[in-house]
Amino acid sequence: MEDSEEKVEYKKVDELEAGAYISSGGSLSKISESFEERPVQVDLLEKIVKAFNENKIAVFEAGTGVGKSYSYLIPSVLWALLNHQKVVISTGTINLQQQLCEKDLPAVEKIIGQNFKYVLLKGRQNYICMRRLNDAASILDLFEGETEELKTIAQWAQTSDTGSKSDLPFMPSESLWTKVNSESDACMGKKCPFFGECFVMKIRKEAALANLIVVNHHLLFADIESRLSGAGFEDAAVLPPYRHIIFDEAHGIENAATSFFSESVNRFKLNKLLNQMYRHRKNSEAGHLCSLAILSSNEERAGEAYEVTNKIKLAMTNVEIAAKDLLQNEYTMRLYDATARNFGPLLVAIGELTRALGTFTAIVREVMEGVADEDKEAPCYYESRVILRHLEAYVILLKNFAVWDEKRDDVFWIQKKRLPPDMVRDSGEAEYIILTQTPLDISQLMNAGVFEPMESVICTSATLKSGRDFSYWMRRTGVSLAGEERIIKGEFPSPFPYNRNMLFAVPKDAPFPDNIEFQQWVEMALPRLIQAAAGRTLVLFTSYESLKSAYRTAVASLRGFTGRLMKQGDDDNAKLLDAFKKENESVLFATDSFWQGVDIPGESLSQVIIVKLPFTVPNDPVFVARAEAIEKRGGSSFMELSVPEAVIKFRQGIGRLIRRSDDKGVVVVLDRRIYEKRYGSIFTSSLPECKKAYEPLSELTGRINSFIFD
Ligand code: SF4
Repeated sequence: MEDSEEKVEYKKVDELEAGAYISSGGSLSKISESFEERPVQVDLLEKIVKAFNENKIAVFEAGTGVGKSYSYLIPSVLWALLNHQKVVISTGTINLQQQLCEKDLPAVEKIIGQNFKYVLLKGRQNYICMRRLNDAASILDLFEGETEELKTIAQWAQTSDTGSKSDLPFMPSESLWTKVNSESDACMGKKCPFFGECFVMKIRKEAALANLIVVNHHLLFADIESRLSGAGFEDAAVLPPYRHIIFDEAHGIENAATSFFSESVNRFKLNKLLNQMYRHRKNSEAGHLCSLAILSSNEERAGEAYEVTNKIKLAMTNVEIAAKDLLQNEYTMRLYDATARNFGPLLVAIGELTRALGTFTAIVREVMEGVADEDKEAPCYYESRVILRHLEAYVILLKNFAVWDEKRDDVFWIQKKRLPPDMVRDSGEAEYIILTQTPLDISQLMNAGVFEPMESVICTSATLKSGRDFSYWMRRTGVSLAGEERIIKGEFPSPFPYNRNMLFAVPKDAPFPDNIEFQQWVEMALPRLIQAAAGRTLVLFTSYESLKSAYRTAVASLRGFTGRLMKQGDDDNAKLLDAFKKENESVLFATDSFWQGVDIPGESLSQVIIVKLPFTVPNDPVFVARAEAIEKRGGSSFMELSVPEAVIKFRQGIGRLIRRSDDKGVVVVLDRRIYEKRYGSIFTSSLPECKKAYEPLSELTGRINSFIFD
């Protein structure tokens, strides 16, 4: 933040007074029966107060059980009330947002003895738009096969307090929800007949008055993007103006920002929008473009729609044919110097698609321009604005593919994905293609949109360190671009007794993962380890193929075992976790999302098995491009990217085991590289102080059994 004459002088929050709320004899001790003073929690709280008082960027790693939400919520509220400022709390998951708003913030009101205003704000697409819902009746043909669901949503909207999708008693189909949710381009603002009862306006009003606004990283980035693209930092954009952010679950910032700032297109996304705009069936035409044409002085332009939409569909088919031809047996491919020549035919097909889609968007735009002002309140006009914005974004993305070599800060890549079986039946195709543009590096963007303009930013998570320091995470997220004098770092270790309650075990006789016998060995070892822990095991894989094969073998070799064996993909993730939690002896074979966020205290989870160290597979095009960028400037991508990224994921995986102070269990890593390779020490140095065993499998199983059950 640059010094300026207008810089506001803030009042300082007293660190010790703030810390006293959660110390012995403080108000938390009086209202909580299970109170135990946690010095590390008090310490973290005081450091966060300091960060607010001194306009710092804080990087604080706080282990499981520190109770970090009170440590940042209390300073945030005190600061907000004292200085009449807003503090934005950004988290990675909805679970944490709900916990903050439903449990922790009401408790903070009691702890500090003051009421304050806070609001959980979601992206506007999460709220129903009463105007679109009402207009749906006049465009029922757009809701073919969805009218029953639409009626149920309409009934719910009459009595809902929030209008938020998550409060619906069922999960609406994506296709229906996107036709009735709130969209900025479809919003009539003050002219809307439903303005007075609008859920979005209501929650925004609450946010404008709130001291604390709880959001997810995605919504925060939407706000930052709009500020960077011209809205500035003084006025309301997606969020009201603010200068203080707390990032919880900050380990996920890079992924969240990368996903937010990526753009992609595929046949289904494109066709859905085209069909809403224009459909031609059995000699009849329908869609918003037809409704617009009736109101437009440029009506004749709509006459070209039939031919142009056919051209777009044909061009998209040609893009898919060329992409599949290029990919052959691969699932992803990056467009860069080494592949540019092979991409030739695909780029030609993309060029045709760009031209056809560009013609269509020009038609829609001209027809819209011919609509007189008094007719611009027609539903078709607002709906067309939404669709046009998306289609124009696709045109830009496709054009960017053509000039990829001028855009070296982005990764251009294609991906082949399998269609779900019901869609294969309808379309006759088994796979479809996605074209994506992803930023190579989000650090500059984060610095320009977050670290530089904000006064204080507090980043916290249980896993920010990779090895002994924060440098990897700070580099990737742009914190390291801020001046040294603005940054404070700290570690706040978990108060749980890991040295008593956790055994870290590695079988000494496992083959190395690059050995062809590794998978077979894993499949022999897993049933024995599962039996040693009497089920209660989460097995974390890095590959779904390996998972499936190991699961099949385990089912066959554990026939007499009474616990249930489950695997990711058998049901939706939440249901699997629920069953795993309830059935003590069950076992879950999982990948990806289960490495983090799984919170299962108690006996159901007594063993976490990590099959392989979680290095990103070298066919992830964005990862490879990032690695190449590091090599190009003379660095080692293995030590600067692969290892630190894997260490953070590894620590997330390990963190699934001990969730409460009385939890006890074992982490088994089947990947011997952790002890045999030099870089292994970066993984082991980030383990909490615990018991360790490096023995042959036959000895480990007995030790695991007695550790858990004796
Ligand atoms: S004000 Fe905007 S979001 Fe709200 S109901 Fe009207 S059109 Fe929909």
